[in-house]
Formats: sequence, structure tokens, C-alpha cells
Amino acid sequence: MVEAKNLCMKYDKGKHNAIENISFSIGRAEFVFFVGSSGAGKSTILRLIIREVKPNDGSLKVFGRDVARLPRHRLPYLRRNIGMVFQDFRLMEERSVYDNVAFAMVVIGSSRKEIRRRVPHVLSLVGLKDKAKSKIMDLSGGEQQRVGLARAIANRPAMIIADEPTGNLDQGTALDIMNLLRSINLRGTTVLVATHNREIVERFKKRVLYLDNGKLVGDEQKGIYTNVH
Ligand code: ADP
Repeated sequence: MVEAKNLCMKYDKGKHNAIENISFSIGRAEFVFFVGSSGAGKSTILRLIIREVKPNDGSLKVFGRDVARLPRHRLPYLRRNIGMVFQDFRLMEERSVYDNVAFAMVVIGSSRKEIRRRVPHVLSLVGLKDKAKSKIMDLSGGEQQRVGLARAIANRPAMIIADEPTGNLDQGTALDIMNLLRSINLRGTTVLVATHNREIVERFKKRVLYLDNGKLVGDEQKGIYTNVH
């Protein structure tokens, strides 16, 4: 699903490489944590995968295609296959739960019939069937992130990318969200999570890629956060 070889990336204004000679390979239906302190390069890797930024050197293949060479008109196809989940949720606060999820499907041209069938289904997967009509601003943080997950899976992406998805949540709620991500993964979706949450990484015992100063310093199956920190 993702194959990085000697990947390097430097921001225009950056002094050093934000990503320095990184190689890894992530297969179908894997669950992978990216960990490392602030500025280690976690977000940059995720941004490279969705081609928000381009590598300066090395190669990065996503779904078998070299993202650096992807023509602009192919970007929507790449991105519709990747569901994004954000620390700050990025929902339409004044709109309903239903509308927030439906909008993601409208954008890619789903039929009204498909939307009417799919939205209640994904809302029930994240435990929000009864909140379809609620406004986002009336929900708790945990409920809002559930909407974020429902939106991310609405278009049946092959991969979910979550950048600090639990950064704004208390630990109990964070665990609920991670359990949902795990159940999405068990249904066959590849899940990549950048996180600072040590307890969650230790508890979930999934593959961990450790970043430090732009370098990949560890890649462990069933890793524990404390290997590096
Ligand atoms: P993390 O997600 O692990 O906190 P980032 O990928 O955001 O790390 O940052 C990696 C490095 O790239 C850091 O040194 C950071 O300062 C730098 N960086 C991130 N975004 C930009 C940007 N837009 N312009 C210049 N430098 C950036």
C-alpha cells in the first residue's frame, strides 16, 4: 500500500531535511503507529502519502504508484482512496452529523440513493445512529471524532490516515476512538496513526515506526513506545 525508499523531504523554508533517507513498506490491512517527539517528521510522512507535499529525493509509492510523478488530475483518485482523520476534527460545526458524513459522499459524486443508504450504516458503525440530526457543536469531543471516523470511512477508502486523532480527547475517550480504528482495520482497511499517546501505543501492540529528527530509528511489530523514549 505504501512503499518508501530512501525518502527525503525538505521544506522550502527548512534548514534541514524534515524526512531524511527513510525506507519502509506497509502492506494491505496493516495497522501502523508513527511515533516520535514533536517535529520528528510524523505529519510530513502523512502529508507525503497524500501528496500534499512532494519528496525531494528517493521514492514513495502509494497504491503502487509513484506519488511524486502522479499528474495533478490523478490526485482526486489518490485522495478518495484515503480517509483522513484530524486532531481538530475539521467538521462543519453548524451542520448535522448526517450532513457532515453525506457531504464527503456528495463531493465524490455518489448518488442520493447511495448516500441515504450508506450514511446511516457508517453512523451505526461508530455508534452514532441516534445522533444523525444533532448539530456538531452540540456533541462532545469524542462524539465529534466519531463523526470524523464516519466521514473518513464513508467512501470505503483502502486506507485511513489519522494525524493525532486523540490529541484533543481524554484518555478514556481516546481509547474508544482507537478501538473504533482497530475495528475499521479488522474489516480490511489499512490504518496509519501518528500519535504522542504512549499508553495507547503500548496497549494496542501494533507495528510502530519510530521517528527521530526526520530519521526512521525503529520499526517494530507489536512495538512498545518506551523503546525509544
Ligand atoms: P511531527 O508531525 O512529528 O511533529 P513534522 O512533520 O510536523 O513533525 O515536522 C518535521 C520537521 O519539519 C520539523 O523540523 C518542522 O519544524 C519542519 N516543518 C514542518 N512543517 C513545515 C513547514 N510548513 N515549513 C517549514 N518547516 C516545516
